[in-house]
Amino acid sequence: MTPAVQIENVRKVFGTFTALHDVSLTIADNEFFTLLGPSGCGKTTLLRMIAGFEATSAGAIYLFGDEIENLPPNRRPVNTVFQNYALFPHMNVAQNIGFGLKMLGWSATDIDARVSEMVTLVKLEQFAARKPSQMSGGQQQRVALARAMAPRPKVLLLDEPLSALDLKLRQDMRAELKQLQRDTGITFIFVTHDQEEALTMSDRIAVMSAGHVQQVGAPSDIYDAPANRFVADFIGETNLIDATPTQSGNTQMTFNLAGGQQVMLRPDRPLTAGTNGTLSLRPERIGFGDAGLAGVVTQTTYLGTDTQFHVDIGGLILRVRCQNGQGALPRVGDGVHLTIAPDAARFMEA
Ligand code: ATP
Repeated sequence: MTPAVQIENVRKVFGTFTALHDVSLTIADNEFFTLLGPSGCGKTTLLRMIAGFEATSAGAIYLFGDEIENLPPNRRPVNTVFQNYALFPHMNVAQNIGFGLKMLGWSATDIDARVSEMVTLVKLEQFAARKPSQMSGGQQQRVALARAMAPRPKVLLLDEPLSALDLKLRQDMRAELKQLQRDTGITFIFVTHDQEEALTMSDRIAVMSAGHVQQVGAPSDIYDAPANRFVADFIGETNLIDATPTQSGNTQMTFNLAGGQQVMLRPDRPLTAGTNGTLSLRPERIGFGDAGLAGVVTQTTYLGTDTQFHVDIGGLILRVRCQNGQGALPRVGDGVHLTIAPDAARFMEA
């Protein structure tokens, strides 16, 4: 099937600064695809090039198989939802949603029908006559979504659309956005620096850093099998420990850890004995047991559902996370042993 968006070796240079280095991505039709990375990594620049607000310095972008370099923004089957909603303050909800359709030359009857469909889709039936200033941030963001989806774009670009909302609303809106994407079948390309947002909504995520795509995959692939140290560190919480496998192959084997202790793990792919690398070890995959890595608890933090521990294993601090309500947990100063499931760590070369 023809991909919705194909990005081929796209580069973007601003003066002497390269914001994107030969980025290639394929985004399928109907996909909820997220560009995730820290501030300045080039996500917005890439989105603006798909929208047509920014030209590429090299490479090509295809929308449903067609090269779009010479297509102006208003002729691309794409619409954008911005972080700051950008609603017209003097127009009510219905007029805001219908505005783009009027510009496109739709008839009044068609506009009315489409506006009423969109108002229902974003659950704002009772608000159609209100002005933006008479609505909450979440409601305004829903108007912005309805307005962007009204002309039936094939691809919707969303640039941090939830970041102006408070935490609770942001969490509710995640589910709504995902549902909207499923209901409409529009390809969503969502930009965020919030890894939780990316993990909860996306079919696939491209993790970016400094103008490079570091890894593309489903949320669970990226979380469980990070391609490198940057991805492991950026996605979720993890312990990164310098380590060396003592055997070649992918059977259960001993790893020597920085700090002098050893741990038994089964790597997910064949390794070479003596390779220097990093183990990524998620705090929730470490438990307290009768044997295993010896350490001392130096800090505990109560987090409601979980407790987080800092455990000193010979000068190296490991973070451990345990669910509360499962029995007695260690306290600061206790000597403990840490158990790690053999498949719980990911070894990354260098
Ligand atoms: P944020 O999350 O902060 O918006 P981002 O990942 O979206 O970050 P971009 O806005 O794409 O990052 O910017 C990528 C890099 O390119 C940044 O270092 C930025 O300063 C630079 N940049 C963006 N636009 C321009 C421009 N018009 N001229 C010069 N440099 C630019």
